[in-house]
Amino acid sequence: MIRLGFHMSIAGSVANAPRSAGANGYGTFQLFTSSSRSWKDRTLDPVEITEFASHVKRYDLVPFAHIPYLCNPASANADVHKKSVAMLVENLHRCTALGIGGIVVHMGSHLGEGFEKGLDNTRKALSAALDKSDGVSILLENSAGYRNSMGSTFREIGAVIDAVGSERVGVCLDTCHVFAAGYDIRTDDGVDKTMHEFDSAIGLKRLKLVHLNDSRYGLGEGLDRHWHIGKGKIGMEGFISMFKNKSFRRGCFIMETPINDEGDERTNMDAALSALKKAGIAQQ
Ligand SMILES: [Zn+2]
Repeated sequence: MIRLGFHMSIAGSVANAPRSAGANGYGTFQLFTSSSRSWKDRTLDPVEITEFASHVKRYDLVPFAHIPYLCNPASANADVHKKSVAMLVENLHRCTALGIGGIVVHMGSHLGEGFEKGLDNTRKALSAALDKSDGVSILLENSAGYRNSMGSTFREIGAVIDAVGSERVGVCLDTCHVFAAGYDIRTDDGVDKTMHEFDSAIGLKRLKLVHLNDSRYGLGEGLDRHWHIGKGKIGMEGFISMFKNKSFRRGCFIMETPINDEGDERTNMDAALSALKKAGIAQQ
């Protein structure tokens, strides 16, 4: 079964994310469980936690969380490292309270210290956070490959997963980032080759979520600019090719496409559904 959805706003209450996702007929959604741009945020109200859970249940949704942007587990800066671990632990606890099984985490930037140093810092941060939490998985998201960013290749992500050595670490594959990092997913062969590389370096069983985004910029340009499904440099044929690949024929797909105009979510959902249909997948 394939579930499609979007990153949703938590303005007003975290319960507004599943409420809107359900009302729009999505099967999955993603949210920030705390303010996306600050280290600390207010604690969640028990009422919004209960409401969140009841909307998830009522609409049969699969929820995912995303760590706030400030978190940088790879950082060699002691203060940033400490704050990143605290943020990870706090967000994992919020996921437990809300009944969310996985949180998307960017490995961050090694800030010029090199991959090996970043790898060691990431390992320490993730291990500490996993030790202080229970059950919830950390889903490492591949990056677009911008200067000093960690995890733009499957080999780097595989190295982090091996170093942490926990079953609670999975992967969120972002289609815009993978394309920006140089994996050509515009054709059936390109997708097959990419997922074969994913399998050898990481293992397909670690793939827990896909961020379904088109890319504003070209192959291998290293620029993280999400674009509307089928209207960017990946293009409609690329999305059809993805859904033809067996790795993409089940699971959750979350769009983080821009909202420039009212109705953009609907347009992107229709484009994704059309790609599914052209790939021969019936969606209820
Ligand atoms: Zn993403």
